[in-house]
Amino acid sequence: MTTMDAVLADRIAAMAAALYQRGWMPGTAGNISARLDDDHALITGSGLSKGELAASDLVVVRVGDSSAVARGSARPSAETTIHTAVYRASGSRAVVHAHPPYATAVSIRYGGPDLIDTVSFEDYELIKGFGLADPGRAHVPVFPNRVEVAAIGDDVESYLNDEVNAPPVMLIAGHGATAWGTSLEQARDRLECLEALCELVLLTGRSRPWKPER
Ligand SMILES: [Zn+2]
Repeated sequence: MTTMDAVLADRIAAMAAALYQRGWMPGTAGNISARLDDDHALITGSGLSKGELAASDLVVVRVGDSSAVARGSARPSAETTIHTAVYRASGSRAVVHAHPPYATAVSIRYGGPDLIDTVSFEDYELIKGFGLADPGRAHVPVFPNRVEVAAIGDDVESYLNDEVNAPPVMLIAGHGATAWGTSLEQARDRLECLEALCELVLLTGRSRPWKPER
């Protein structure tokens, strides 16, 4: 691992610890990655508490096929295929996946076991955090939580390739939330916006703040 890669590993570990402290990565859940170059990404290891990762707990994987480049003690996240699918389809530089409570609850309310569903947010201020051309609405996909994680990656990649205006966030039904961006911080900020939007929807029962007749 180069010095720059080691710095990136430290930043990922610090962000994972912060999200763990917030209760968004319970048990060994959650995973974070950042691109090293066009062909490689650095991702958190599988089956480890995200509250106490060391830089050596991160693994270099190939974006093309999700395989680990160098086999150390850590294995790459079981959800690596979702990260690499996002990279191949979006050109983003970082992906953050966690199990924040409100987003996960919304994924259950709006998602299902078989089909890709959508939860739409309208007119909430926080939609601006997604950086969409139209900040007035965001149609967030809710993917089925397939047993084969690679199949979730396939769903995500084809969805993002088809929906060019899709927001940089997604939900997996009964599972959690994922966000991406040009930096680790942007991906995390977008995940925070999604979680806050989901909290508002659950508190108000409305996917937009105003009554339809207004
Ligand atoms: Zn997960």
